[in-house]
Amino acid sequence: MRILVVEDEKKVAGFIKRGLEEEGFNVDVAYDGEEGVSMAINSTYDLILMDVMLPKKDGISAVRELREQQLSTPVLCLTAKDGVQDIVNGLDSGSDDYLTKPFAFAELVARIKALIRRGSQDRGAELHFADLRLDPVGHKVWRSNKEIDLTAKEYALLEYFMRNPNQVLTRTMIAEHVWDYTFDSFTNIIDVYVNYLRKKIDRNFDRKLLHTVRGVGYVMKESD
Ligand code: CA
Repeated sequence: MRILVVEDEKKVAGFIKRGLEEEGFNVDVAYDGEEGVSMAINSTYDLILMDVMLPKKDGISAVRELREQQLSTPVLCLTAKDGVQDIVNGLDSGSDDYLTKPFAFAELVARIKALIRRGSQDRGAELHFADLRLDPVGHKVWRSNKEIDLTAKEYALLEYFMRNPNQVLTRTMIAEHVWDYTFDSFTNIIDVYVNYLRKKIDRNFDRKLLHTVRGVGYVMKESD
């Protein structure tokens, strides 16, 4: 699981990063709103922890910009007690939850886990890629309007590909997102699952969607 922490106070950012890493998360830090937006868009995170008072671009504007760019990653905002009204005013910006500073670290971790869980269970709108359709609420998948029966892991894998189309996903990224941990020594389990998935979504169709990037990983795209 990867988390992006956008926080300008270096001490606070360092404290949060160390604490979350002890909980098993991979953590990147951005120190202002612009850097936060750019990192969120150019990489893949399971959650974004966004301070509201930030240089260059405030947290609420940053979240609004991410949503305008169709990024659906859950966002937890951090604010001072007297900044709560800003958050309430800005809830339509697209943040998912907020926490006031100072906070107990255990509460931060609990909120993060709840948001990631909610995010993985129900991220609203259907996903479309080529003639593939995925319903994240009902956990159903169709290709060319024909329903495809997937196991839970195959489904999670496909959802990850469909949320990151045209991007090369390494075996490490897939392991971290779909299995929540890295395998190191036996990444071939990823290949096995990708092959299962490929049989179900690609085998009976002329147009292949899941492609191997030799020595790197896999990509979901429409052409070779
Ligand atoms: Ca700040």
